[in-house]
Amino acid sequence: MRVVVAGAAGFLGSHLCDRLIARGDEVVGIDNLLTGRMENVAHLFGHERFSFQRHNVSTYVHVPGAVDAVLHFASPASPADFERMPIQILKVGSLGTLHLLGLAKEKGARFFLASTSEVYGDPEVHPQPETYWGNVNPVGPRGVYDEAKRFAEAMTMAYNRFHGVDVRIVRIFNTFGPRMRPDDGRAVSNFLVQALSGKPITVYGDGSQTRSFCYVDDEVRGFLALLDSSYVGPVNIGNPVEYTIRQLAEMAIEVTGSTSEIITQPLPVDDPARRRPDISLAGTLFEWEPEVDLRTGLSRTAAYFREALEGGG
Ligand code: UDP
Repeated sequence: MRVVVAGAAGFLGSHLCDRLIARGDEVVGIDNLLTGRMENVAHLFGHERFSFQRHNVSTYVHVPGAVDAVLHFASPASPADFERMPIQILKVGSLGTLHLLGLAKEKGARFFLASTSEVYGDPEVHPQPETYWGNVNPVGPRGVYDEAKRFAEAMTMAYNRFHGVDVRIVRIFNTFGPRMRPDDGRAVSNFLVQALSGKPITVYGDGSQTRSFCYVDDEVRGFLALLDSSYVGPVNIGNPVEYTIRQLAEMAIEVTGSTSEIITQPLPVDDPARRRPDISLAGTLFEWEPEVDLRTGLSRTAAYFREALEGGG
């Protein structure tokens, strides 16, 4: 297959490129490097089946030649980004999705949307199945991401129904692993970087809020299984084992052997109280389930950050 990956230099996009290249596909990577980083794809430069365009998909998208699949992984996605770049997030979720759907339509290609558990907002149904419509505050600080992705899902299904474009939608739950930005602002990256540098671990609120963390290799394996399936409609891909944020902080200290203390800071506005995917649909459709537990994944990610911190000073 010849596959276009928007957001190719990002955390998830770059792991996806690796898997596609490894299985023999040709990859056209696109990224404007707003939050993506060249170092994530540097090892792919020079590969005969990889090419790269530095480009913002919110403007327009042109890819010469035949294309079999268009994968939309372009967007800042950390809650810390929601305040720093709200308009870019709204644009890449709306205009970026429109342009990439247009590309898929023109090429007769399959379209794959990276959506999010944020479409469920602060969920009143727990765990969250795909049939739950969510509880999102459209005008709060998280609304820029949540509503952009909800719009992107609506647009994707409209292109399927109205134009007959073959589409897949993955709802991604908290994912972590090597190539996260050390200053990403998420809990896993903050806690590991703080623990490794002996700084206080910043738990927001009382730390009783929950998340369910999926290791990146499991997550990307789920993406490809969904891409190759014939299912049209949203599918949750995430690890259903749920932890409190305080438990995560304690585990970050443990796997790094750190002496950091845990301190508390104010809880961000509209921070979801709990989150856990119902992954029975992915299991039924393509027998997907995660294999890497949190402790193992955190150890691998800590090794990555240790090297990044030593290398980068
Ligand atoms: N969080 C925290 N300390 C941090 C960063 C995040 O306690 O330094 C909390 C955050 O308030 C949320 C959870 O950890 O309750 C997960 O946050 P993250 O940014 O990783 O992702 P989210 O699931 O909120 O998108």
